[in-house]
Amino acid sequence: MPAKQTQATQDPIQSRFAPLNVRCTQQRRVVFEALCATRSHPTAEQLHDQLQGGHVALSLATVYNTLEKFCAVGLAHKLPPSGGRRPGGGSSRYDATVHDHLHVRCPRTGEITDVPDRLSREVLDRIGPDLLGRIESEIGMKIEHVHVELVGSRGARSAATSGTRRRPRHRRTRP
Ligand SMILES: [Zn+2]
Repeated sequence: MPAKQTQATQDPIQSRFAPLNVRCTQQRRVVFEALCATRSHPTAEQLHDQLQGGHVALSLATVYNTLEKFCAVGLAHKLPPSGGRRPGGGSSRYDATVHDHLHVRCPRTGEITDVPDRLSREVLDRIGPDLLGRIESEIGMKIEHVHVELVGSRGARSAATSGTRRRPRHRRTRP
């Protein structure tokens, strides 16, 4: 049995890259592993800093280009900059979780937290085709995606549950 081939097909990273024709270089592997290992939705700069001193040399440009490549083929999502002077506020953030889910962004710290899948689904399901159809007919535009971002901070639960500011952010393909 060709041991090498067996090993390649069992490699989880290779099996994610191969169907998308993404060549599995060492650089891409370490960037993807690092992105998958974190829930912090890092910027390219943050990932680059984290990967410094590792066994694979990576420039910031390589990290950035690699993340952009992942986004282009659907291995990652890019979250737009939140703006401001917060850490990472002026840079795009990256997310290896590519299925529909909502985020809560803290305006003070810039922290982005995933909303659990079942709750994300519940919110998105409530923005159904009927509501979107009414919006379309009222404003005369075709809705192509729904973006939802929740804004909140830790230790302020009562404020969050009594009505948070919502801004369109998260992309969802309309059913
Ligand atoms: Zn996320």
